[in-house]
Amino acid sequence: MNDKPRIHAAGLALIAAAALLASAAPMAAASAAPIHAAPAGATEAAFALVGCTLIDGSGAPPLADARVIIEGGSIVAAGRASAVGLPEGARAIDLGGATVLPGLINAHVHGAFDAERLQAWAEAGVTSVRDMSSLGLPIAEVMRWRSESRSRPGYARLFAVGPMITVPGGYGSLAVSSPREAREAALGLIEGGVDAIKASLEDGYAGRSGLPKLADEELVALVQAARERGKRTTVHITQGRYLREAVLAGADEIAHIAYDYVDPDTWRLAAARGVTLVPTFTVFRNYGAPIDSCIRNLRGFLAAGGLVATGNDFGGGPGEFEGGMPMYEFSCMRAAGMSAMQIIVASTKNAALCCGAEGSLGTIEAGKLADIVVVAGNPLADLAALEEPIMVMKEGTIIVDRRDDRRRIGAFSATPPPRG
Ligand SMILES: [Zn+2]
Repeated sequence: MNDKPRIHAAGLALIAAAALLASAAPMAAASAAPIHAAPAGATEAAFALVGCTLIDGSGAPPLADARVIIEGGSIVAAGRASAVGLPEGARAIDLGGATVLPGLINAHVHGAFDAERLQAWAEAGVTSVRDMSSLGLPIAEVMRWRSESRSRPGYARLFAVGPMITVPGGYGSLAVSSPREAREAALGLIEGGVDAIKASLEDGYAGRSGLPKLADEELVALVQAARERGKRTTVHITQGRYLREAVLAGADEIAHIAYDYVDPDTWRLAAARGVTLVPTFTVFRNYGAPIDSCIRNLRGFLAAGGLVATGNDFGGGPGEFEGGMPMYEFSCMRAAGMSAMQIIVASTKNAALCCGAEGSLGTIEAGKLADIVVVAGNPLADLAALEEPIMVMKEGTIIVDRRDDRRRIGAFSATPPPRG
């Protein structure tokens, strides 16, 4: 939420590249390096993650004894060790049975134009975030942060939607008064470089109700404009009737979930149209909205076959938001019946789709950027394994390496490599 600071939806009131020490022999373990040891921009020849279980983000079953080959910041091969050869001269990093996943993506955050926050996300294994409202920040400044986040390995990669489109006096910060203006607003933002368009269908906040909102023709016009330029439109809603309106207007994505009743027909319609839903349970919790009702709604959407992506609305309301791994979101998704694998896919492949980055991020496969998280243990058995990754890599640069810590505390099973 939060297209205006401290303004709430009404209904809600209710309620490194670590210096990898080269090892001459393939398959030998590399020595662990300290966190953030490595200079930005360091590139190296091909290297391989070996001795790991691969969860590739596509939803495919985990692959034991896997290998991931990385070169020049990208994944060049991934699969079972028997099927993926080590390129000549490639250094092997033995992960001792740890689990490798795509870097996680938080598809709904706020206040991401901030170095400390971008670093905190990256270190926690959230290697990309999508900022969902730039408020008064000029688009050029949004884009400066966006490119800065890409040039610094230690920052989570930033995607941004720019300001939320609304009508004069409505919920959002870029007001339009006609379908033509709605179209021009969307085209202007896309020209400016945003990754997606965001509009609102919200009739109240801060105890007020009956606020003006976009007419159907305006919403259709901006969705259409975005589509012509290959961009998705996400529509903010918190109530079921507006969710339905958004879907009928062609929204690709729903920001938040309704906290009130949504009929099965609406969920079927949304699922049939391929709409992605980013529930953001955390902000509902923080506003005191009925979480049970939100969870029930997610169950309805899942039953209809709907596509879910992860986002916690960090900074989008009062109270605490997890600035690392959004574990509260995961717990609500679990409560709605999602499997650990479905939640991982929602946080990787599906969230990449929301960012318009499905071609370069979200799964571990040849050709994609090497944004990779390594965790001890099996996240499919317990998602808590995601909470403290033992390694985080962004575009092939290792920015966190805690393997040595794990060995010291005995939580990591690999035999420590010789020092020096
Ligand atoms: Zn938000």
